[in-house]
Amino acid sequence: MTLMSSQFQPVLERIAAEIERTPGRGRPADYIPALAACDPRSFGMAVAELDGTVYGVGDWREPFSTQSITKVFTLALDLAREGDRLWEHVGREPSGNPFNSLVQLEYENGIPRNPFINAGALVVTDRLHSRTGDATGELLAFLRSESGNPTLDFDKEVAASESAHGDRNAALAHFMASYGNIGNPVPVLLDQYFRQCSLRASCADLALATTFLARHGVRADGTRLLTQSQAKQVNAVLLTCGTYDAAGDFAYRVGLPGKSGVGGGVIAVVPGRCTLCVWSPGLDERGNSVAGVAALDRFTTLTGLSVF
Ligand code: GLN
Repeated sequence: MTLMSSQFQPVLERIAAEIERTPGRGRPADYIPALAACDPRSFGMAVAELDGTVYGVGDWREPFSTQSITKVFTLALDLAREGDRLWEHVGREPSGNPFNSLVQLEYENGIPRNPFINAGALVVTDRLHSRTGDATGELLAFLRSESGNPTLDFDKEVAASESAHGDRNAALAHFMASYGNIGNPVPVLLDQYFRQCSLRASCADLALATTFLARHGVRADGTRLLTQSQAKQVNAVLLTCGTYDAAGDFAYRVGLPGKSGVGGGVIAVVPGRCTLCVWSPGLDERGNSVAGVAALDRFTTLTGLSVF
């Protein structure tokens, strides 16, 4: 089935109306106060086409805490610089464990399973920081330029709160440092990582910022960030690892490369066609947005746009 662009808006409105009628939205993350205070009834969804046209519904222009979604962009920025050498330091297999789990690291010599769990993202951020001297600065510049939104920024309050409740991430970083898999001093790395997690952006911003993955590595200005093969690799790892220990269920229901964050956002890529971002802060027990995944499930079911 070929879907006309003009059909995106009615599809989004239909999905929002269905979500509105669906009880049970999960619970916002409560490990820091700034996330716990979110209204679980919030819901926004955006679709961005390759030419930058964006369709949206609900709270699609409302900035939210992007959290782990930023791991996608950090990975792309580092992979663009160091290529396959990165994979000597982080794997690309699903972990089957919660996003902040420590257990596999000891058996696998401090090499995290994939770049989308916390341990893997710490390694990627560390490497990007070593190469650029300012991983979060690179990330912010990239996201501002791809989204066309120069006001995007980190949230100092959320970053400070992450840091105050950051024992587990600190443990992951120190443990990997003991295997020589972290190059920067751990406090420097954690500061970079917590700031990255605190980025605030809307569904519209994130859908646009993700379009380089739908364009097979080409940025909004026509320059190339990733080779076609690297874009394929990132999309593949998103499909298999982007939603933690629920990646199998996400592939089954949604059928797209995707990445969630505990702020309740989820991005997804339809290679060659468009990107999506949905936000609703209520999470399931694995840390994925309940209404967000349900909305993506409906989108691919209604439109036939999936990779399968
Ligand atoms: N800031 C969160 C953490 O590091 C991000 C995790 C997530 O979104 N899954 O624990």
